[in-house]
Amino acid sequence: MARNSVPTEALDIPAREELVDSLTLHTCLRNCTGKSGAAAGCCTLGTRAYIIGPIPDTAELLARLSERLERDVPYDEVFVDYAEGSKAFPDNPEWQREVCYPALRVRMDDPSFPCRFLADDNLCSIHDIRSVTCSRYSCDHLTTLIAGI
Ligand code: SF4
Repeated sequence: MARNSVPTEALDIPAREELVDSLTLHTCLRNCTGKSGAAAGCCTLGTRAYIIGPIPDTAELLARLSERLERDVPYDEVFVDYAEGSKAFPDNPEWQREVCYPALRVRMDDPSFPCRFLADDNLCSIHDIRSVTCSRYSCDHLTTLIAGI
């Protein structure tokens, strides 16, 4: 039977948007930057020269967090400025660049230094209200994969 004999409307083909979402979820949780088993690299520092910043929409994010948590969320609970960050990571060149601030605070009790909003399942706990820095970011690996769909 010729392949084009089946009307495409009869096939359960996911929309491109659904494919992008599934590909993104799989890549970020199971194959981050093409490494099998790796996850959420852009939400953790690891040992790389890397910082999660700058964050341009600090006021808007704090407002959304305060509404979500039903309390006033202070700036320092979420963000790190140059004075603090440059001392916290003296050997990480990205943390020595003032233009990278304000940055998202990371958990210092975890050797991979995850963003304070990264949950144990490697999902963002504030995905729907995250900053524009996070929502606009797509690593080169993921960008290339999505372009191929
Ligand atoms: S706010 Fe969410 S998306 Fe942004 S770095 Fe943190 S965990 Fe990742």
